[in-house]
Amino acid sequence: MSALDFTQTSTARRVDDDERTRILAEPGFGRYYTDFMVHARWTLEDGWGGAEIVPFGPVQLSPAAAVLHYGQEIFEGLKAFRHADGSVWTFRPERNAERMQRSARRLALPELPAGDFLSSLMAITAADEPWVPEATSEESLYLRPFMFASEEFLGVRASHCVDYYVIASPAGPYFPRGVQPLVVWISDEYARAGAGGTGAAKCGGNYASSLLAKREAAENGADEVMFLDSETHSSIDELSGMNVFAVTADGRLLTPSLTGSILEGVTRESILRLAADRGLEVIEQQLVMSEVLGQIDRGEITEMFAAGTAAVINPIGELRARGGSWTVGDGGSGEVTLALRTELTDIQYGRIPDRHGWLTRLV
Ligand SMILES: *Cc1c(COP(=O)(O)O)cnc(C)c1O
Repeated sequence: MSALDFTQTSTARRVDDDERTRILAEPGFGRYYTDFMVHARWTLEDGWGGAEIVPFGPVQLSPAAAVLHYGQEIFEGLKAFRHADGSVWTFRPERNAERMQRSARRLALPELPAGDFLSSLMAITAADEPWVPEATSEESLYLRPFMFASEEFLGVRASHCVDYYVIASPAGPYFPRGVQPLVVWISDEYARAGAGGTGAAKCGGNYASSLLAKREAAENGADEVMFLDSETHSSIDELSGMNVFAVTADGRLLTPSLTGSILEGVTRESILRLAADRGLEVIEQQLVMSEVLGQIDRGEITEMFAAGTAAVINPIGELRARGGSWTVGDGGSGEVTLALRTELTDIQYGRIPDRHGWLTRLV
């Protein structure tokens, strides 16, 4: 198969320099988009083709496009980081490329070759280079590759036409007021994934099914929702978009093992490695919620945190459920949590050596 060639068909900027400067001063998260987007199309007859870079803007779809009815859609999320010398890098994109292929298989979508995935990231970052924030604080250009069933067909089967896009959005520090511990609501009613389902795929449907639980969390004064396994509602799966970790007083780092209903986070995998490097005993196992709450009460678990690309590492200060609430450690940001967070972001921004070879240069 020939590799996709994402050549820029337009060079006209959508947003002028002054407006972009104003946006980059306070971008927030997911509120503003760059000048361009990457597009390619797959058809059953011809495979992948039609690679292009076009101005960011609305996508035309038939009202009968399969994705609007049956939700055949997957996505990825990565960041482009500006280093002090002006170069732009991303973090372990090959892991995202592989995960997008696994998600595609599960959703009966076509696999995008890893080389094309990487060249699409390079293409949009090069086209939108002025949008990559200076590395003054924790800012980045968030990259969102996604693909969906675009065939005009209401019959139920895998779509014969699929569109792939990459859009980009400048992201400010995820915590404008510094790292704030989360209050996490334990959902006893809803699950995000079940055995044989799509929990390990990064698909929009998983997020759709998490929103009601997230609203319930908000109604109970919590920032996020923690899902338990769907079968017994007794062991920890993950949050709606972040993996979960616990640190024990005797130097262990615990995280739920990958059971098929948990999304395999790139941040998760990287944290396990950095923690092992620091001499923590890393344990992937079933984490029974009642046992975890007991360990928090007895002071055996001293820190908990959530991890994903957007927030990197987010301390969990309190767990809340219908039956009560549990303060983790002193309710603040734990020492191990912050040390891991600092090390990971220092690698991403090129402030310390990339000893595991995790960075790929984009521009
Ligand atoms: C994307 C995602 C994560 C985090 O994955 P990263 O690769 O670390 O960004 C965790 N859980 C869910 C459900 C996700 O969709």
